[in-house]
Amino acid sequence: MPSEVMEWKVPFLDLRITDKAARQEILSAVENVLCHGQLVLGKEVHELEVKIAIFCGRKYAVGVNSGTDALYLGLKSLGVGPGSEVITTSLSWVATANAIAMTGATPVFADIGEDLNIDPECVRRLITSRTKAVMPVHYTGKVCQMEALSEIAAEYDLAVVEDASQAFGARYHDQIAGSFGSIGCFSMNPMKVLGACGEAGMIVMDREDIYDRLLALRYNGTVNKEVCIEPSLNGRLDTIQAAILLKRLSKIDWVIERRRELASWYDEQLTGLVETPRETQGGIDVFYTYIIRTRQRDALMAFLRNKGVETKIRHPSLMSEQPAYLHCPRAEMLNASGLVKEILSLPIHEKLARTDVCYVTECVQEFFQETKEV
Ligand SMILES: *Cc1c(COP(=O)(O)O)cnc(C)c1O
Repeated sequence: MPSEVMEWKVPFLDLRITDKAARQEILSAVENVLCHGQLVLGKEVHELEVKIAIFCGRKYAVGVNSGTDALYLGLKSLGVGPGSEVITTSLSWVATANAIAMTGATPVFADIGEDLNIDPECVRRLITSRTKAVMPVHYTGKVCQMEALSEIAAEYDLAVVEDASQAFGARYHDQIAGSFGSIGCFSMNPMKVLGACGEAGMIVMDREDIYDRLLALRYNGTVNKEVCIEPSLNGRLDTIQAAILLKRLSKIDWVIERRRELASWYDEQLTGLVETPRETQGGIDVFYTYIIRTRQRDALMAFLRNKGVETKIRHPSLMSEQPAYLHCPRAEMLNASGLVKEILSLPIHEKLARTDVCYVTECVQEFFQETKEV
């Protein structure tokens, strides 16, 4: 059974930078930083913040050292803490729930819809007098139903903190992920659509008071480095990662286009065999993951593994089912508990060729041919 990246015929992800020109570009960006020596919060961090704010149609951006930090500090900047409840989805990487819990607030888990994103009507039913914020996750790189969520949030005076970690550049009706809520949070870890060569994250917003508070929160709660106005930890973004991200940001349109092209090739060959992701009318998904659904998920996964195709289940358990969160309030998971048993993520990254996608889809076709014959 293949286990190393090298042994897979089609690896799920391959983070090596094999293209010599691309490697050279990154090395020269790193070299510039080593020459000026501002290794943390240097000028490239500022330049990246300005560019990301513009990209997201926001006034301000604050670079932090991970997506988890972005969520955690973002919630803190809005005054979320002990005694508050924050309603979030049940299907996400557990960082989403952890960020809420680490502020001292209680995560409250909502069900998801067919789009794998939080169900706005379910959010409404979970609101209590303690609810302070909603944290939708644009899962797989698809923007949530933000119109409905924003209406509910306005009605109950709740903050909206977008976990846009998987959705850099995703759109709905000309509005971009990260620009819908009170604040938008991104992870820029190496796996993400816009990824660094290490840990990185970003928070975007329009309100100046929140921006000022976040500048303090990301650096031990200090103003001018010496005066501590509230307790916090160190969440600064390092300059080398920012310099690398600037290079990658300049190619982001191509990256998104490529991911969408790969997804369309999967769609063409897989529609009818499995449930393929459906793009929202008026939306542009960025396909951080390409998730198919089938009742025969586990058998298909094993079949593909034997064919050298590496797939993943993102995620095999709902956050609400994690041992750390069993005590938290939640909705009845009418959709999520079934969906989580059927989802499978196929390889989708810029290094895949059309022939790789064809190979994967041929294997899937073969699987269904064989299961039909039995
Ligand atoms: C990746 C991810 C995070 C965490 O980001 P890190 O940069 O790894 O801390 C949070 N939420 C979601 C939905 C993610 O996909």
